[in-house]
Amino acid sequence: VTRFATALVHHPCLDKAGDVYTTSITNLDVHDLARSSRTYDAAAFYIVTPVTAQQDLARAIAEFWERSKRATKVPSRAAAMKLVRVVSSLEEAIAAETEAAGASPLVISTSARDDDPDAITAPAMRERMAEEPAALVVFGTGYGLAPQALELCDIRLTPVHGAGEYNHLSVRSAAAIVLDRLRSPDR
Ligand code: SAM
Repeated sequence: VTRFATALVHHPCLDKAGDVYTTSITNLDVHDLARSSRTYDAAAFYIVTPVTAQQDLARAIAEFWERSKRATKVPSRAAAMKLVRVVSSLEEAIAAETEAAGASPLVISTSARDDDPDAITAPAMRERMAEEPAALVVFGTGYGLAPQALELCDIRLTPVHGAGEYNHLSVRSAAAIVLDRLRSPDR
């Protein structure tokens, strides 16, 4: 790919009961995913929420670290926060990437669950990405991406598996591992 981007979806996600709901923005997710996205050379990091107060919060966090007096003392953080794009829907993120890339991105979903028989491994995904002009990797929150979000994605990456049965990574940790598998030149 010549253009690569990430998205963190707060809606539509699942809750514990499997119903669709909207999760809240967390400061840590914004910071950590922005830094990881920058490290793995993403051109944009979309924060997806339809709640306008939450959009304002995400923008305030990003802009503080991009523009405030404090930000000038931490230029590496400002460089990461510059990637943040706050959007209302995953459709909007895909449309923005399509426009930026001049072509539809390969939209890749992620999940802790092994429930998609068509999911492909990271090495296979790298090969697939090499054939595409652009790619957008989508991460969920709460209990994962809701079916409505998965339907907008083209292909699923197989989950990161732990060393034992316990597998409850935070989205921040999972995203760093996924980005390394998909983007690191060491692999
Ligand atoms: N049970 C949920 C699921 O299956 O997606 C866990 C949600 S987790 C707290 C939030 C997000 O982190 C997921 O939507 C996915 O993007 C990412 N994630 C968490 N664990 C993962 C794993 N083992 N492999 C890949 N992505 C993972």
